[in-house]
Amino acid sequence: MTTLRRFFLAAAVLGVLVSCSAGVPTVGLPHQPDSGSLAVRCGRLIDGLSDQVLEDTIVLIENGHIVAVGKDVVVPSGIPVIDFSGYTVLPGLIEMHAHVMEGPDQLNDLSAYYKISREDQLEEGRGYAAVTLMAGFTSVRNLGAYQGFLARDLRDEINGGQAIGPRMQVAGYYLTIPGGGGDLVVPGIPQEAIPAELRMGVSRGPEEFRRKAQAAIDGGADLLKVIASGAVLAYGGVPGEPEMTPEEIRAVAKVAHAAGKKLAAHAHSTRSIKEAILAGADTIEHASLIDEEGVRLAKEHDVALSMDIYNGDYIDTEGRRQGWPQEFLDKNLALVEAQRKGFEMAYRNGTPIVYGTDTGVYPHADGAKQFRVMVERGMKPMDAIRAATSLPARYMGWSDRVGAVQQGRFGDLIAVRGDPLEDITVLEDVQAVIKGGLIFKRPGESR
Ligand SMILES: [Zn+2]
Repeated sequence: MTTLRRFFLAAAVLGVLVSCSAGVPTVGLPHQPDSGSLAVRCGRLIDGLSDQVLEDTIVLIENGHIVAVGKDVVVPSGIPVIDFSGYTVLPGLIEMHAHVMEGPDQLNDLSAYYKISREDQLEEGRGYAAVTLMAGFTSVRNLGAYQGFLARDLRDEINGGQAIGPRMQVAGYYLTIPGGGGDLVVPGIPQEAIPAELRMGVSRGPEEFRRKAQAAIDGGADLLKVIASGAVLAYGGVPGEPEMTPEEIRAVAKVAHAAGKKLAAHAHSTRSIKEAILAGADTIEHASLIDEEGVRLAKEHDVALSMDIYNGDYIDTEGRRQGWPQEFLDKNLALVEAQRKGFEMAYRNGTPIVYGTDTGVYPHADGAKQFRVMVERGMKPMDAIRAATSLPARYMGWSDRVGAVQQGRFGDLIAVRGDPLEDITVLEDVQAVIKGGLIFKRPGESR
């Protein structure tokens, strides 16, 4: 059991009141999600939409939703006021490419996933989800878990107030070819020996992809994820080479869109990026080897790029130290700089870029570390913030719910010390997290 989990269970035993320093409790387990009513006095407010920074502003949240934002908001009696006048308040952050169920520790031996029980993996995921929320990410897209539908079960626990974590959209399982980037093959182990629940999305041909895509949606997936090209952290695949055909990708896109869902396409390869855009993907994950035509096509088709330009550093240092397979390290190194150049090109071109980091490949607590790299690579800090707030909300189909401090959306806020527009790395040290009007973390509390 994780320390964090133990903490929350202890909190549940003591009742919901964990910390009452400001008259408002920090939330424990179980709780009623999106039930909070409170007013937040913000020293500075970045709302996730505009370029303006508002000073001395009050955000009023009632029953989990923002009902008013302004200097002269009248706070109804009985609603507590949280004083963040010494902080910069922002919308809760959005991670577009998370793997909440898994952590980096198992990447030196993928066959460990063959043995771990569903309940143990779920328990791990609960811990990672809590860490993700405490890092300031109040919404995430979970783009695949090795155990099919495991993230769906965690999503449902969080939505029911039985676990602590971000709002989640989950992909169900990886839609991938046999031996592809989402198929958990390990050299020396026959494919028949791999547990079936790890291979639920392995398909070949448009018809089989269509069937498995529909089954993912019928099983509760919020979006679909295809592995269009080879992957870095998988045996045998070549990131620069296509794995799925355009017809296969299109078959999945059709199923997703018919159900009102989005399609996220993993594509490192120059060709796969373009094929996925033309086949109907809504976001391109990684986009490492994107060229000018790809950048142009993405913009033209209103497809967002979710480029994980931080984790290459982690893989090359920590992954190497932990003894990850040499094949993974080599493939990573070959892509890092190309992907960052592609990011610069895409930003210059005005192609939509959303904040997607592949967290889980590196520790979930470090989810905000990519902001620094994005700004170093030329992105304006305000654009980097919008890439993790209002813009991804749009690509999740959740613009009415999250991603901005705006009337009608959920009361999801974070507070940081200092000014992220001056120093983007202050986002790596989130002091307070409010989700649905409930306080999950407050200044001075380490959870
Ligand atoms: Zn990933």
